[in-house]
Amino acid sequence: MTRYIFVVGGVMSGIGKGIATASISSLLSERGYNVTAIKIDPYINVDAGTMNPVEHGEVFVTEDGLESDQDIGHYERFLHKNIYRQNYMTTGLVYKTVIENERALKYDGKCVEVVPHIPEEVIRRIKLAGKKSQADFVLIEIGGTVGEYQNILFLEAGRMMRIQNPESVIFVLVSYLPVPGNLGEMKTKPTQYSVRTLNSAGIQPDIILARSELPLDEPRKKKLSIFCNIPPENIISAPDVKNIYEVPINFEKEQLTLRILKKFNIRAKKNGHSRWTQLIKKINSSKKTVKIGIVGKYFDTGKFTLSDSYISVIEAIKHASWSLKLKPELEWLNAKDFETNPSATKLLSKYQGIIVPGGFGSRGVEGKIKAIHYVREHKIPYLGLCYGMQLATVEFARNVAKMRNAHTTEINPRTPYPVIDVMPEQKSNIEGENMGGSMRLGAYRCRLAKNSLAIRAYGKNLISERHRHRYEVNNNFKEKLEKAGLVISGTNPEKNLVEIIEIKNHPFFVGTQFHPELKSRPFEPHPLFVEFIKSASKKKG
Ligand code: GLN
Repeated sequence: MTRYIFVVGGVMSGIGKGIATASISSLLSERGYNVTAIKIDPYINVDAGTMNPVEHGEVFVTEDGLESDQDIGHYERFLHKNIYRQNYMTTGLVYKTVIENERALKYDGKCVEVVPHIPEEVIRRIKLAGKKSQADFVLIEIGGTVGEYQNILFLEAGRMMRIQNPESVIFVLVSYLPVPGNLGEMKTKPTQYSVRTLNSAGIQPDIILARSELPLDEPRKKKLSIFCNIPPENIISAPDVKNIYEVPINFEKEQLTLRILKKFNIRAKKNGHSRWTQLIKKINSSKKTVKIGIVGKYFDTGKFTLSDSYISVIEAIKHASWSLKLKPELEWLNAKDFETNPSATKLLSKYQGIIVPGGFGSRGVEGKIKAIHYVREHKIPYLGLCYGMQLATVEFARNVAKMRNAHTTEINPRTPYPVIDVMPEQKSNIEGENMGGSMRLGAYRCRLAKNSLAIRAYGKNLISERHRHRYEVNNNFKEKLEKAGLVISGTNPEKNLVEIIEIKNHPFFVGTQFHPELKSRPFEPHPLFVEFIKSASKKKG
């Protein structure tokens, strides 16, 4: 029998529902169960590819090429396995399927209604994902917060599943308990209201994860228990942690896995969270720092700086650093600053390594190119990811191969040297405004060149990595660029598309058309990130 655990949020978003879902998944999997996790995003967007990363966070790409939510990345990292496209759905995708089915007469002349047909499609998708991965447990994280109009149909799907088979479904509410500064006391009322709101959707939560700055104390646990109608042992303290990989350890301390298994009347198999404990031990014993700068543009919202747009890059840096017993220090550098104040590039020398991650459009592009110019000339370790590789090619073309005004046609379609150009099959997509889920997405192979930095890092000559792009290195300029010293060290064997560039006489200068960060895991750091951090650690801070 497959069991389903719905994870819903109370009070406010951004309190770590994704990490909680990923952590529970990991703990159950460490007890020997087959676990998978699903993310439901209550947006009309059919996938995450068309959402603004500042608003919604990074677009995570699966092996099979779905543009999904960053939480899928957390599931992969915590579960240490690939998650495929059936594990992600949005409101838009669900409605699209129902409408297409209606047009194909699949409802036998019935009136098609929001209820039950939309929740039924949600349930079909949840069960399909469980079946495809032969899961003992399926975790289903419903985006947003209870009480929002937007996710009500997904809660309804959960409620219907519980009615159909009460033994196989539980609900976990991840709720926030504020500690207002002027009071200095943890308040339970917002969580009480969240439970009541959930009740009005016909759902009684089985477990509450009490997210707060501080641990939950006994008096408040009792209060929540009485007002929310939940035994105190099923109210789990979940205070802030320094490192997200401590969350499974904390949950286990509170016996969360046992509580969940008990709810399903299952006797627990062996205990296991030792790998997380070991990892945290290793992290805490790493003292030497390595300082990395990320030059991007998706940081600022009003007066706040967010880094969610680059979450996989950040995680990949951490995994690689920890594996080398180093403590990473990350700083966000706004590409625009290098445009308005060109001498700002000098500040780059205080970093031991610079990354230019993926991106789209013209904002900040010249700033990124200036930054790349500086790190190439000043021999600062550089890793360019997708756009970061394309712009490194542009910089090299302009300043080394002497192609004045070389550019990517994404920004300047009339450049005399279109060293980065749109892929032929993408041209018609752009012209036909077919922009959703139509980039070159997901895993493709790449053959590595002999004697390259890449082959040294990977230790093999054929690799597979995940992609998300419409533009590529223009092969008409390959010879000219190579003559000027650019090393093309990775190529897709099927299409002869440039996948990796490097330069010689530099401690580390690598750009990849793919996104290596998507495959980095805490227990399997990515080889390119490891090489990059290794060489960064050799530079003086
Ligand atoms: N904008 C570039 C392209 O479409 C790079 C994309 C990216 O960095 N993911 O090819």
